[in-house]
Amino acid sequence: MKQAIVFSIEEFSVYDGPGIRTTVFFKGCPMRCNWCHNPEGLSQKIQVVKAPNGCLHCGACEKICAHKDGCVACGNCISVCPRGLIRYSGVAYTTKELFEKLKKNSDYLKQAGGGVTFSGGECLLYADFLHELIPMLKEIGVHTAIQTSGYASEADFMKVISVVDYVMFDLKVMDREKAIEYTGRSNEPILRNFELLKKSGVKFMARTPLIPGVTDTEENLTAIAEKVKNSGALGIELLPYNKMSGSKYTMVGMEYHPKFDEKSEVNANVELFRRYGIQAKIM
Ligand code: SF4
Ligand code: SF4
Repeated sequence: MKQAIVFSIEEFSVYDGPGIRTTVFFKGCPMRCNWCHNPEGLSQKIQVVKAPNGCLHCGACEKICAHKDGCVACGNCISVCPRGLIRYSGVAYTTKELFEKLKKNSDYLKQAGGGVTFSGGECLLYADFLHELIPMLKEIGVHTAIQTSGYASEADFMKVISVVDYVMFDLKVMDREKAIEYTGRSNEPILRNFELLKKSGVKFMARTPLIPGVTDTEENLTAIAEKVKNSGALGIELLPYNKMSGSKYTMVGMEYHPKFDEKSEVNANVELFRRYGIQAKIM
């Protein structure tokens, strides 16, 4: 039985695919997008995280900690916090355990025209797990979707594409050098997997986070439109930059350093896509 680390399961989501959905956030991501608003999803390891607000500065957590040079997630500080601000992030599930949990809402999800969406982090890090779990959900009539950066080996990508019903595929930075600078990775595997998706016959939606001066430039949006036009995509969803992105970094002991002007307004150029005959909407 395969295992995966999950850091959140959100119910009644209306932004993660068709209808009302349960969204599962897997822990771990190979990319390092400079604007990431979910730093809990970066590390694949189970972590101990501290809520950013409400601390009494009582010092109890520091006093009990025997690993001040680096947290080992022993959990000793969790029980001593009088405000309950400290918790584990990440729960290990077998496919059967996660299936049983998701099954509980399956009737409701079906009636609501929704289903289950696997997100992250990067859900394709758990390709074998999904290859086992998705057919179990489909067997009981639950629609399945993934949200992915597209950054995965061809084999892992095809393993999941061969079973899932619907794909939300990110196209972020089309210039290779800029992709490396702002996402920590080349976009070559992403663009290769996008071509595989086009040929697969699986329904898909392109998605672009609008990051001021990075992804929302005319040049980048035009390159995305060129890629999406005639691709078979149902359309493109544009996700304006979340100005709260930095707020969760202290929770995981990280600092947020945006390399762009986060106060600028984003260029949500829906018209540009419409000129290419692409259905575009701002999320
Ligand atoms: S979980 Fe808490 S007590 Fe344990 S090593 Fe990390 S910070 Fe220290
Ligand atoms: S134990 Fe809780 S309240 Fe006290 S310093 Fe640590 S996080 Fe703050």
